[in-house]
Amino acid sequence: MGYSGSVQKAAADRLFERRLKAEKDADRRRADIYNKLPRTKELEKAISQCGIMAARAVIGGGDVAEQMKQLRDTNLAMQSELAEILSSNGYSADVFEPDYHCKKCNDTGYYDENGRTLVCSCMKQALVACACDELNRIAPLSLSTFESFRLDYYEKSQDGRTGISPYNQMSRILRYCQNYAENFSKNSESVLMKGATGLGKTHLSLAIANEVIKKGFGVIYVSAPSLMQRLEKQFFSKDNDDSALDILLDCDLLIVDDLGTEFHGQFSVSQMYNIFNSRMLCNKPIIINTNLTIRELEKIYTERFVSRISRNSQNL
Ligand SMILES: [Zn+2]
Repeated sequence: MGYSGSVQKAAADRLFERRLKAEKDADRRRADIYNKLPRTKELEKAISQCGIMAARAVIGGGDVAEQMKQLRDTNLAMQSELAEILSSNGYSADVFEPDYHCKKCNDTGYYDENGRTLVCSCMKQALVACACDELNRIAPLSLSTFESFRLDYYEKSQDGRTGISPYNQMSRILRYCQNYAENFSKNSESVLMKGATGLGKTHLSLAIANEVIKKGFGVIYVSAPSLMQRLEKQFFSKDNDDSALDILLDCDLLIVDDLGTEFHGQFSVSQMYNIFNSRMLCNKPIIINTNLTIRELEKIYTERFVSRISRNSQNL
């Protein structure tokens, strides 16, 4: 999908930094050990030369089989001597190997399976994290905090229809959102925030995003129209790459702002359905903001779909 080029580059850079660090650390360990135990240096050097000597033996002719056997025996003897020195000095056998953060892809972000190159889960995580960072730069996450939410903006007198003052209602919602962020887990409940524009839904969901990101969870925050735009672009592009859709399904918290304002084509309805349904089946939380009423949503997304969302969410 539509991870922007800058997000993709940032994720690739992040993995590259990890790989570089693992390799530099390994070089440093090697230099340290060579210094302390000079015999290890001689052994490693001799072992690496065995290959060259084997090649020479083949080119040189003579009793190649015998020479190869000798080389192999010498090599094995040196390897076991090296292993013995390392272990008796308290080092693990793989101490010279880089200790990659991800063993599956050695911090390259990709791995091969049955002849196909696949995107590693660590790359997907890095993409989510970098998308969060980018969002943090674009959306004023730092401005939309619980602390900056102004309750005094709401009317304290009772609403004639509901008997509750907007102030009290908003206080309750604010407390709910603070609690939600504080106790967030990968299986937190989903939330459906309805109500007219300007009731602070975006502010509160950004404040939740802020807190949940700080706890180290992967949060994707998108407006429904831009989500649709990205999915359509991905769907109709030649290189149909599903990794981004995966991330929408995989991230710890998905926040969809302004549901119902996107273009209501067949495609968007089925994509939204697919994303919401898949997440709900695995108990992964979504926060949905909409300015529409349930009735209006039903006209776009069918009664069945809307009632499923509504039943599976805390309705605010
Ligand atoms: Zn990996």
